Amino acid sequence: MKPEERQRLQAERERTEAELKRLRSYLETEVEHVIDGGEDSIDAAADIYEREKTMAIIQTLQNKLVAIERALRAGERGGYGICEVCSKPIDPARLEVMPHTTTCVHCQKKLERMPRPRPPTTFQLEEE
Ligand SMILES: [Zn+2]
Repeated sequence: MKPEERQRLQAERERTEAELKRLRSYLETEVEHVIDGGEDSIDAAADIYEREKTMAIIQTLQNKLVAIERALRAGERGGYGICEVCSKPIDPARLEVMPHTTTCVHCQKKLERMPRPRPPTTFQLEEE
């Protein structure tokens, strides 16, 4: 792993962590705001929508953080830029755009086509 690759990943990790922190504190103030009450239902619905959007972004950033850590660890083993699935080198242009990626573009496409595992539905308590 080249020093500039490590630096790029570490910078990316710092940016992602800062963004996560910002979004989490935003979420906290929003929650307090809702608990305070006194809003009409349209505002409340908009708040819920905003919160869900923020939580989705947080989830994405958390996944990215995990990917960054993995890429850094791969770098320590000398495997940075090598696809985890097919063990072929990842296109440098792809690494430029997504320094935290650990799969090549072909394997990424294959993984995206795979059906996502669904949680078991038998234990859901939605019905009364
Ligand atoms: Zn691959």
